[in-house]
Amino acid sequence: MKAAPFAYVRPTTPQDVVAELAAAQAHGEAKVIAGGQSLVPVLAMRLGRPTTLVDITRVERWQQIETADHVRIGAAVRQRTVERHRDLGVPLLSRALPWIGHREIRSRGTVCGSLAHADPASELPAVALTLGARFGVNGPKGTKELTAAEFFRGAMTTALEPGEVLEYVDFPRARPGQGFGFAETARRHGDFALVGITAMVETDGDRVRRARIGAFGVADRPQLIDVTDAVGELLSGEVQRADAGRVTDALAEAADALVTTGGDKHASAAYRRRLVRVLGGRELISATQRSMRRNH
Ligand SMILES: Cc1cc2nc3c(=O)[nH]c(=O)nc-3n(C[C@H](O)[C@H](O)[C@H](O)COP(=O)(O)OP(=O)(O)OC[C@H]3O[C@@H](n4cnc5c(N)ncnc54)[C@H](O)[C@@H]3O)c2cc1C
Repeated sequence: MKAAPFAYVRPTTPQDVVAELAAAQAHGEAKVIAGGQSLVPVLAMRLGRPTTLVDITRVERWQQIETADHVRIGAAVRQRTVERHRDLGVPLLSRALPWIGHREIRSRGTVCGSLAHADPASELPAVALTLGARFGVNGPKGTKELTAAEFFRGAMTTALEPGEVLEYVDFPRARPGQGFGFAETARRHGDFALVGITAMVETDGDRVRRARIGAFGVADRPQLIDVTDAVGELLSGEVQRADAGRVTDALAEAADALVTTGGDKHASAAYRRRLVRVLGGRELISATQRSMRRNH
């Protein structure tokens, strides 16, 4: 099948993007197109029939990655560009990016496009939630910033209103005493995850002060839970991979809370809970070790 006819515009400034979206929205449905890796299949299958596509990839200001105490990634920045960045300082993001589809997909797909698409099995929404990223939105009513918890509203659903565009996302850079872990299980390389896990641990010497795990592929949106009480003591001291069994056992309650999706043809809910515990336990240990060795 081919896409239904649509108008196509390619503005070069943020103001023009917002103006084009408003103008098109007045007599039809306008859609932002960034990398097109999710939108084009939707159009081709006629699951969506927007009347105008507003291509944002020529907006120079949104092609930038700015690094300060946080990392600001503009709306037109491709996933692969961030993956190849040498001094990003956001280790969880760098670990997660290679897991997205295939290199060809990441060479076109944008970081903000993935966040705006909000697939519940996507890596980047979970990374954003875990790190407390901030989302810069521009639209007819002006600009605003949202937290990840405010931004993700459900499966493929965000707080973006018609005519609004996600301009940038801000990720905090890693601080001393933090360690991160990331893992996912998919049926084949490049497939969306059955379950994915993020781990973030903060240590003080050999003591764990705070431990959290995030999960994706387990609910209608990314999830995050504090597991300090459940595993903080187990992770403190000289924690080893061999301790993974005990950490896995201690994550039973967390896994129950994180996995709210029922089973589907790929995996049962029980199998997903098991994956959360096993991957979560393993990544919490890795994150703790990295934090204590000061290499994030
Ligand atoms: C074979 C294949 C495998 C894939 N595997 C994975 C995977 O494992 N994990 C994963 O996370 N993704 C995967 N993807 C999706 C890929 O990461 C997409 O690139 C990404 O989800 C969307 O980014 P995009 O820039 O291509 O957005 P587009 O496809 O251009 O847009 C997607 C949606 O977001 C909206 N949008 C885009 N940018 C903005 C913005 N700045 N503001 C407001 N709305 C915006 C569009 O209107 C559209 O509704 C896969 C895709 C393919 C084709």
